[in-house]
Amino acid sequence: MSPTDLRARDRAVVWHPATHFGDLEQNPPVPIASASGVWLKTPDGREILDAIGSWWTSIHGHGHPRIVAAVREQVGRLDHVMFAGFTHEPAVALAEALIAAAPRDDVREPSYAKVFYSDCGSASIEVALKLSYQRRVLCGQTDGRSGKRRFAALRNSYHGETLGALAVCGSPAWREPFGSLLHDALYLPAPSQADHAHADLASEHPEHRPELGADSPEADAAVAALEAHADELSALIVEPIIQCAGRMVMPGAGFYRRLAETCRACDIHLIADEIAVGFGRTGKLIASEWSGVVPDLMCLSKGLSGGVLPLAATLIRNGFEAPFHGSPSNTFAHSHTFTGNPVTCAAGLASLAVFAEERTLEGLPARIAHMERLRLQLTQRHAAVIESRQAGMVAALVVDRERGPADGRLGLALRRAAMDRGVLLRPLHDTIYWMPALNVGEAELERIAAVTSEVIDEVLGR
Ligand SMILES: *Cc1c(COP(=O)(O)O)cnc(C)c1O
Repeated sequence: MSPTDLRARDRAVVWHPATHFGDLEQNPPVPIASASGVWLKTPDGREILDAIGSWWTSIHGHGHPRIVAAVREQVGRLDHVMFAGFTHEPAVALAEALIAAAPRDDVREPSYAKVFYSDCGSASIEVALKLSYQRRVLCGQTDGRSGKRRFAALRNSYHGETLGALAVCGSPAWREPFGSLLHDALYLPAPSQADHAHADLASEHPEHRPELGADSPEADAAVAALEAHADELSALIVEPIIQCAGRMVMPGAGFYRRLAETCRACDIHLIADEIAVGFGRTGKLIASEWSGVVPDLMCLSKGLSGGVLPLAATLIRNGFEAPFHGSPSNTFAHSHTFTGNPVTCAAGLASLAVFAEERTLEGLPARIAHMERLRLQLTQRHAAVIESRQAGMVAALVVDRERGPADGRLGLALRRAAMDRGVLLRPLHDTIYWMPALNVGEAELERIAAVTSEVIDEVLGR
């Protein structure tokens, strides 16, 4: 089967996400036959360096032998069984491991008590929103019309695309096409920290600023809004440290800590959306750790299975489940058919094992510093780069959109120029970012930076 045949067949029957039909002629989907490490391979043998971890999923690289073996072994033993009325070793062991690894208030005991599985990030957000809301109902804090029944979210945030999750996305552009279907959330300002450097996070760095964002005007306004609306708010949902889909904006660890404290004081549940930032992306296993925050509900997905299979989990703080006991009518009214699939859970366990065996987190500071050097070189070299920022293994370069193509499709032009050079970048409009697998090699990182530099010259001029 030639790649052209596959493209024609694809075009006949497949509808791709985030893709306009009109773009398919010039930018048809690239057939991929296999993948290993940070490399994707086309059927005709061309190699593409995956600089964004295939939409922020890939943690230990594609086809990691440890994870592949675990998946093979598990699928042969138990492929699937319904999770209402049944259980199995991989789901229980992964829940134990996640609870053990999650942030804690007190090192001596875990802060989370339960794990609710689902199969994509958006579903884990729905679970968190519904848990928060149903708990308010069970506690007599809302009758559905008044009381604590609304959700707050940050402007520019992204939490997924199912209707409940979409309603807490903080950008009107995402919500607008489905506006009349969405619940009425409250949107709070967040600082952008345009020049946020990794230095703000790393405690060994001379410019360590753990309080970044805490005393910003946006923090004051967000806190004031939470206090003013406390009577009607069930929960606040936050992406800790990085608003990834919102062009990799980094509002600051101190900003998040201050929101968390306000939520605690005002009886507003705190939901951390760690779907993109979890599993080492920011340099710690869980991004909330940078702020010393232990959220009430924590959503995990993308990197949870190592990025290999669709799996999501909502972690639930100790004691949160109490009102769901008692009468059978207190049951949490939610289910997904593939809840806790054993093969996906086996991948999750194997990914955590790789973290331990390869000391992935211990190796990150050196890689992060390398990425920082490359990022700063590009920032200095190119007049077209007007801002750059980094948190852990996520680096962003903001380019001057005035220099972009006349049709305004800057992100697409950059993406295409990178693909011509065998590197997968997918800029968010004017923001080029790197988010490779955590074990990306030095030479591979340098290749990503070199191609980014060429692409900036080609699309935006010297
Ligand atoms: C990707 C993402 C989601 C949605 O996850 P899906 O698996 O695509 O439904 C939610 N929140 C954040 C922060 C994400 O990056």
